[in-house]
Amino acid sequence: MNYEGNIIRPPSEANSIILKVTVGCSHNRCTFCGAYKDVRFRIKDAPTIDADIAFAARHCRRQHRVFLADGDALIIPTPRLEGILAQIRQQLPWVNRVSLYGNARSMLRKTPAELAKLKDLGLYRLYMGLESGHDPTLEHIRKGVNSDRMVEAAKRIREAALFLSVTVLLGIAGRSNSAVHARETGRILSGMQPNQIAALTLMPLENTPLFEEMRTGKFKLPDQAGILQELGLLVSAIDVERAQFQANHASNYLPLSGRLPRDKERILQVIGAGLSGRQPLTTESQRAL
Ligand code: SF4
Repeated sequence: MNYEGNIIRPPSEANSIILKVTVGCSHNRCTFCGAYKDVRFRIKDAPTIDADIAFAARHCRRQHRVFLADGDALIIPTPRLEGILAQIRQQLPWVNRVSLYGNARSMLRKTPAELAKLKDLGLYRLYMGLESGHDPTLEHIRKGVNSDRMVEAAKRIREAALFLSVTVLLGIAGRSNSAVHARETGRILSGMQPNQIAALTLMPLENTPLFEEMRTGKFKLPDQAGILQELGLLVSAIDVERAQFQANHASNYLPLSGRLPRDKERILQVIGAGLSGRQPLTTESQRAL
């Protein structure tokens, strides 16, 4: 496989064939993200992608899922993406699910007809980073779109019957905006109606502008109890028809998962137990990205 730089993929793609069809992220401006800071975004050339698919056809016969990396593979022009999906279907017929990261802008660049065609060709799941539904926070972290556009993009994906997984970041609004970030994020998630919600906890990386803000005291991360309170407010504010909720990433203080709305009360009780000390929390040294 022609891998360059970091391989970043969602936890649920741990057993997938990772095809790096792009390098880096087309946006690459989020102040908390150090994933591709020194990488110039590009779409890989066709012979390289062809060679990787041919490699997977020979060596990855036991893996039934493909993840198209890197940070925003949906930005690939539709005819090329259709070609890649068609090749996967033809050369890796045992693959039953193709997933990728897409940001709101890339989603909104695709027409409903294009998304339907991509789904027909095997695209199944899109991972999207909302991070926050609080517009001043989205602006502060230079996410590049506001919350209305996030909802619009999510609706387009859901209308194409694609599976949408949305990530939010606890702590990203700092201490002062923690509560409003939680409530607004819950409200925006309710508008998006994703199939899956993943809540991670911010762990500032040294190579990012946000880390510099933290070092100089401009940004203050909520403490453990503050993060749990934020999580409780977030869960309380989510009103979805049906979504898998996961806060069991290694960055989280309290591993949680369940289905919303069915498990909402149980999740809130566990958060309450974490806050009162009745439920053990992950220590700082055990946390990881
Ligand atoms: S869009 Fe995603 S990958 Fe790109 S800079 Fe922002 S967080 Fe990082």
